[in-house]
Amino acid sequence: MFKYVNSVLLESGCLTNYLLRQKVFKSSSAAQKPKVCVVGSGPAGFYVSQQLIKAYPKIEVDLFERLPVPFGLVRFGVAPDHPEVKNVINTFTKTAKSGRLRFVGNVNLGTDIILSELREAYHAVVLTYGAEQDREFGIPGEELPDVLSARRFVGWYNGLPVDSNLKVNLDIETAVVFGNGNVAIDVARILLTPVDALKNTDITEHSLAVLSQSRLKKVIMVGRRGPLNVAFTIKEIREMLKLPQCKTVMDPASFEGIREVIEGLPRPRRRLMELITQAALNPPPESWANATRVFEPLFFRSPIEFLKSLRSNRLSGVNIVVNELSGDRAVPTGVVESLECGLALRSIGYKGIKAGKDIPFDDEKGTVLNKNGQAEGLKGVYCCGWVATGPSGVILTTMNNSFEVGHAIAQHMETGLVDISVNKPGYEAISHILGDKGIQTVSFSDWEKIDEEEKRRGKEIGKPREKIVSVEEMLSIAAR
Ligand SMILES: Cc1cc2nc3c(=O)[nH]c(=O)nc-3n(C[C@H](O)[C@H](O)[C@H](O)COP(=O)(O)OP(=O)(O)OC[C@H]3O[C@@H](n4cnc5c(N)ncnc54)[C@H](O)[C@@H]3O)c2cc1C
Repeated sequence: MFKYVNSVLLESGCLTNYLLRQKVFKSSSAAQKPKVCVVGSGPAGFYVSQQLIKAYPKIEVDLFERLPVPFGLVRFGVAPDHPEVKNVINTFTKTAKSGRLRFVGNVNLGTDIILSELREAYHAVVLTYGAEQDREFGIPGEELPDVLSARRFVGWYNGLPVDSNLKVNLDIETAVVFGNGNVAIDVARILLTPVDALKNTDITEHSLAVLSQSRLKKVIMVGRRGPLNVAFTIKEIREMLKLPQCKTVMDPASFEGIREVIEGLPRPRRRLMELITQAALNPPPESWANATRVFEPLFFRSPIEFLKSLRSNRLSGVNIVVNELSGDRAVPTGVVESLECGLALRSIGYKGIKAGKDIPFDDEKGTVLNKNGQAEGLKGVYCCGWVATGPSGVILTTMNNSFEVGHAIAQHMETGLVDISVNKPGYEAISHILGDKGIQTVSFSDWEKIDEEEKRRGKEIGKPREKIVSVEEMLSIAAR
């Protein structure tokens, strides 16, 4: 009989779960320690872990990460010329080395482990795996090789393994970036910054090589709505206005009547609006006279078709429609214009992915269905960060959200809403599953070997680090 059960379970891939349940049952009288796992090691993963450790002295937290390296978008999103933003890594490292957190890199939820396995092994599971898919326009020509997502372009210059071979053609004069947020500004700035100002940052050498050959003269940043609706922040636009050898040009017509509206805005928004309105309407500063490059925010426009060159498969331009506002909505007027360009970058938002069929998910929003971080219909499953809230806000916003969810989980364990009276095997069970699948896991001290090697390679060429972009190479360094 047992043999039969075994073979059925083996065939259905459930043997490990079965054995695991046996183990749970046998050891349920042992002293209890809350065991929580967190999936995704970006800011949300680290901040929720930090909060749990603080709230619950006896807790064990395991932090799973798909890549062999931690820190999510702090490593792969934050621009290389903004190193100060990456200082949060010091806090994350302290948490990782507190002795209460186990970092387990190179483990992908959805393939290497699934949610039901984690739920059986831990008292609570926190999903913090971010938003990694980008939104598309769904218009003709979007499939052309020179129409890229800003997400992939950022991944390319920041060393994200999957994007390290992206083909970026900068043997062109004009690029168009669609979007009006900080990511759109980041990519415009990286394209327009003199390459000498980037070469001592942690930007990847492969992207630096392409940027140093760039013939780019102009980046047009297209927003579907007006200056009053921009999503970028004052620091980012101020940086663009001061960019060496670059001038900012905006159509004064987009600013008609804006001065009257600005007066009534809350202070931070008013300061941002005053800055861009002055830049658009005042005479240009003298320093712009010698500019060799142009940054051109263009408002009230949406793309309707990307155009292919007649001679090749390359992008030659984009047709855009002029919009007008109806309340807060951009409504096309039917007036069509054409922009010549050789590269288009789409920065119109991100979406989370459903990492397993048992995860309650809002496909449209790209977020885990949840109420205040509690996954809908799944007791003991939580979420925070971009996979829970959607992709908006900065690291600080993610921190506040993650602290709140961490606090709620600790409370639920206190009050019995999360039952910690039953023993759970925690990592012991998961390590068997991963071991059976032959997955090489990466600990935090393994990551420190990769970190050391990157810093050593960077030092040789005057950079803080040279990121390793091959997962295989990361794993072989981790195994040393
Ligand atoms: C291009 C860009 C630049 C930014 N610059 C700034 C800035 O300068 N300042 C600022 O304050 N904010 C910035 N932000 C915002 C900031 O990065 C986010 O607020 C924050 O990273 C969100 O944290 P998160 O943990 O939810 O997601 P992420 O940082 O994306 O972390 C998610 C983690 O989950 C992992 N993961 C994904 N899928 C799986 C899976 N199936 N299994 C296991 N692990 C998985 C990922 O590898 C990643 O490590 C920027 C964002 C972007 C996109």
